[in-house]
Amino acid sequence: MNLNNKHKSVNSKSSYQGLARQSLGFFPTPLIELVNLSRALKGPRIFIKRDDQSGLAMGGNKTRKLEYLVADALQKGCDTLITGGAAQSNHCRQTAAATAQCGLHCHLVLGGKAPKHSDGNLLLDKLLGAQIHWSGSLRKGENIPEIAARLTAQGRRPYIIPYGGSNALGAIGFVTAFDELTVQAKAADVKFSNLIFASSSGGTHAGLVLGKLLSSDSINITGISIEKPENTNQPFAELIFDLIKTSAASIGVNIKIALSDIQLRDEFVGQGYGIVGKPEREAIAVLARTEGILLDPVYTARAMAGLIAMVKAGEFNQNENILFWHTGGAPALFPYADNILGKTD
Ligand SMILES: *Cc1c(COP(=O)(O)O)cnc(C)c1O
Repeated sequence: MNLNNKHKSVNSKSSYQGLARQSLGFFPTPLIELVNLSRALKGPRIFIKRDDQSGLAMGGNKTRKLEYLVADALQKGCDTLITGGAAQSNHCRQTAAATAQCGLHCHLVLGGKAPKHSDGNLLLDKLLGAQIHWSGSLRKGENIPEIAARLTAQGRRPYIIPYGGSNALGAIGFVTAFDELTVQAKAADVKFSNLIFASSSGGTHAGLVLGKLLSSDSINITGISIEKPENTNQPFAELIFDLIKTSAASIGVNIKIALSDIQLRDEFVGQGYGIVGKPEREAIAVLARTEGILLDPVYTARAMAGLIAMVKAGEFNQNENILFWHTGGAPALFPYADNILGKTD
């Protein structure tokens, strides 16, 4: 058996067009058909890409971005990763796990204040050895530069990972993911007409669209917005558009794309980020009970609720193959237990 010691080794053989990639997860993630769900909805064939099974301390889509970001940090001789997010950030938890695996320090800047009880991702952040900074109303790592400066003054070499790992380099993780899907779809002899997933900081969306453009695929890629549009500084589609362009430029490729090519659906945001409503509760229950698959309350339940609504509205033909990309997040089920079971709200 080939046991590979991942500590501080940068594996540049499995790179995307020469970029270093630190192995952090188990890829390819499974591609599975949801036969029972398709039957229950009397809809088209629905498949799922299980990035919730990416393997990094309970998995998720951030693992793919981190493989590039961590390799970059190691190449630059950094010894500390800093990132930020919401208290139940899956990105922060996967970053903490990556630092543990690679012998780095981890500082997480989380929105809100320290709760009495650490549950879900926050519990895991602590188990994984991350140092946590509570940042009140700022939940997108706005005060990271200040913390980085303090660490530098203490002799550390910090590497800043942006909110959600969504920069030009992080997005490459999903260019590779698109290639991975292409190989699996070919092996399974299916052609997908539509890909649906939860889109929030833009890196997943940007990488998938760039991957599609680079492989001249015709699949429709639709992100389900998780956050109310008025809560973002820049229109979200523009942010994704810019990210696609900077990411393409960073790997030296020319692409043709218009802002109108970015497909985002924001009618499923309900009461806003992290607020579980009836559609999310129903989506969690239907996936759990028809397929034994766990969605998360913040992202994938909302995206699956969107997909189910689209199927019910007759947006797809019966002979289409639809792919749902499961981006992870199940650790947040536990702190949201009461909301999911409908005891509050
Ligand atoms: C971060 C996250 C997303 C959104 O991915 P982005 O690349 O930030 O748009 C979706 N689902 C889950 C579970 C996540 O943690």
